[in-house]
Amino acid sequence: MIPHKPDLLLLPTRELLTRRSGLAACIGELELVLLGSLVEQTRRCGKEGCRCSTDRPHGPYPYLSPRRGNAGMRYVPTVMVDSVRTFLKRGEQIEAALAEISAINVELLARRHLE
Ligand SMILES: [Zn+2]
Repeated sequence: MIPHKPDLLLLPTRELLTRRSGLAACIGELELVLLGSLVEQTRRCGKEGCRCSTDRPHGPYPYLSPRRGNAGMRYVPTVMVDSVRTFLKRGEQIEAALAEISAINVELLARRHLE
């Protein structure tokens, strides 16, 4: 999706601008995004006499651990695990693109060519 990151200092300004446009185009659709991670956790249900109170707990089950905001783990139903993975991957890609766009703009600023 996003081409290999070159050494920004070595690129001519025109190429920096082209690369920045390409990165912005890669970001594209912003709705299908999650920031956080998919983790697996076991659970003890708390029911009296359940095997989990003395033996191994239930699970593991998939949970979304959101990076910030709406604190706490959210259970991910099995049918939604693939979607959550896709959304998380998209979140990582968008963050990487934004970080590089910012790095390009820092370099453009250094060249007094911020536009
Ligand atoms: Zn139990």
